[in-house]
Amino acid sequence: MAQEDTNKLTREDFDAGPCSFDEIEPGLFLGNLTAATDVDWLKEAGITHILTIDSCPLPRKIQERLPNLIIKYIQVTDMPREDLLTHFEDSYDFIDRALDSDGRVLVHCYFGVSRSATVVIAYTMKKHELSFADTLQVIKSKRRFVAPNPGFVAQLRLYEDMSYGVDSTNVQFKMYRLQIAADKVRKARILPQSCVDLVKPDPALTTVRPEPSVYRCKKCRRIVASASNILPHAPREKQIWRHISAKSASKDGESCDKLIQRRDESARVEFCDKIYFVEPLAWMPDITHNVEGKLNCPKCNTKLGSYSWIAGSQCPCGSKIAPAFYLVPSKLDWSNVVQNVQVTV
Ligand SMILES: [Zn+2]
Ligand SMILES: [Zn+2]
Repeated sequence: MAQEDTNKLTREDFDAGPCSFDEIEPGLFLGNLTAATDVDWLKEAGITHILTIDSCPLPRKIQERLPNLIIKYIQVTDMPREDLLTHFEDSYDFIDRALDSDGRVLVHCYFGVSRSATVVIAYTMKKHELSFADTLQVIKSKRRFVAPNPGFVAQLRLYEDMSYGVDSTNVQFKMYRLQIAADKVRKARILPQSCVDLVKPDPALTTVRPEPSVYRCKKCRRIVASASNILPHAPREKQIWRHISAKSASKDGESCDKLIQRRDESARVEFCDKIYFVEPLAWMPDITHNVEGKLNCPKCNTKLGSYSWIAGSQCPCGSKIAPAFYLVPSKLDWSNVVQNVQVTV
């Protein structure tokens, strides 16, 4: 590459190796940064769309030399705890529209091994309704060194569990998003605006489809949680959403496959009732700008539990959940009778 081609690069350590790409299906290419910045190759291959999944966007020069090129950029580093899952749908639409209009699309990251491969796997899974395992085989037969990091593998498995979409009622997905939010709280010491939808409406004030099964404060009978707010855990489970952690995956020498199998098994075992881990709820004071604190009944002020975004909490059964918002069962009454919605706060 001539000097003038590289002098505008935003990254000094530009060395993704030689131009490397593979055609996964007609018109869909998976490659590295060198391919994405090789204007001659882009012209020769007739690339019309580029999906960049990297920590930096493509140099502006590429767009200047190929003004008709349509580029989408997703900023993600190749770390297991990075969130790619919530970009799967957007990426699918981008690739699908490109191919639908007889375009030719290059999906790339730095090496074309983990991040971009994950997005291409997610696309292929959804398009052909294939399992993650089958899709990985297909993609590897086209590009043999494809290897999503363990966090991305877990996200692809969850995407498969959710039938190739986002199911906001899926407990694993709730925990997944809570963990992403907790990582942001750790850095910013405040819950960012992009995550405030994780704080669910106060079940005592819900007038749209109130749930029949609710938990009330034992002392004053105020509703403090609906059944769907509970994040069930199995006794001695280390983490509800633990597949995202490469550390926990490698510490036990267990593969992601094994961890996910264990999770499937845990879905059949009885859930622990020593502590109720719940979603963050609108009545919980200060949870968007404190990292931990007590959860007192909003009506009678009795202490019902605690929360901790970063350190999490340990249940007496041995389960360690982070982040954790928990209520102590002995302070609550469970009822499954449809009652008039309370309006007291
Ligand atoms: Zn109370
Ligand atoms: Zn427990």
